Amino acid sequence: MEVTLQHIRAARENIAGKVERTPAVKSQSLSDRAGHPVHLKLEHHQTTGAFKLRGASNAIAALSPQERSRGVVAASTGNHGRALAHAAKLEGMRAVICMSRLVPENKLDAIRRLGADIRIVGNSQDDAQQEVDRLVAEEGLIMLPPFDHPDIIAGQGTLGLEIMEQVPDAAAVVVPLSGGGLAAGVAAAVKGVSPGTKVIGVSMARGAAMKASLDAGRPVQVEELPTLADSLGGGIGLDNRLTFAMCRGLLDDVILLSEDEIAAGIRHAYAEEREIVEGAGAVGIGALLSEKVKVNGPTVLILSGRNIDMSLHRRIVCGDPELEESAA
Ligand SMILES: *Cc1c(COP(=O)(O)O)cnc(C)c1O
Repeated sequence: MEVTLQHIRAARENIAGKVERTPAVKSQSLSDRAGHPVHLKLEHHQTTGAFKLRGASNAIAALSPQERSRGVVAASTGNHGRALAHAAKLEGMRAVICMSRLVPENKLDAIRRLGADIRIVGNSQDDAQQEVDRLVAEEGLIMLPPFDHPDIIAGQGTLGLEIMEQVPDAAAVVVPLSGGGLAAGVAAAVKGVSPGTKVIGVSMARGAAMKASLDAGRPVQVEELPTLADSLGGGIGLDNRLTFAMCRGLLDDVILLSEDEIAAGIRHAYAEEREIVEGAGAVGIGALLSEKVKVNGPTVLILSGRNIDMSLHRRIVCGDPELEESAA
């Protein structure tokens, strides 16, 4: 089963008033450099600081009243957990976010402040997932995964609809890529409206699970490594149902960036565009600056999130040499 344009248009109705329509602005410096108009879709200004609220809000809107009364659960410590906690709170629903003991206090606080019920279990993401499975089995909570779910993909796809309204002549859209919910949804929307527009995924070279899977022709596991684009870490699931097939069918290209190229994207966003973005949100700019993406016409870069530790951000924009070494 694939997520269609119709599904994405319905998602837009479902989430209207619950998420922001974020601006798309032309970057003069990147346009001058590329020789074609380059637009930045400022999705890092979305409520909760990332696009994940689109999918979470749509998935919650699709639940039956009976499911709503049971509440939702996930094992994400990042942008999905935060989005789910926010969307559930808006609907007066219970949300349980499971995480391991290794999660830093600041991330925990952000989710706790949204009123979610937090379960700290074990020392790994796998331990946290076991608690999720237990809560689904024993307490009947509804698990909403971060990407491999039709309503999540359709929600993320609403970003693609906005882009094609804001930049109707886009020749290419550049999308940060991890589990592929964003890329699959955006590509389905963009190509549904404008079949000739190219959609290009960008991941970090350190542990790019979707790229390795596309190359292998099936979902494969890769070693998870520390990266500045921490929101792009993690696998696609060996039992992937939707995003692998959609990315294989819809993406025109997938490119990989070094840690230096990601840092350059964060630095450019700050110094030239006056925008604070996290590593995952900077890969489009990094791809353009590195010339790994060839610009042949009007191009849109999705700035997907801004939830970066500010002391890390400061070190990156100041060009801390130690950081370059540890990340290289
Ligand atoms: C989750 C996330 C991504 C990647 O989205 P997928 O659907 O997993 O490919 C990119 N950027 C940010 C900021 C994210 O939080």
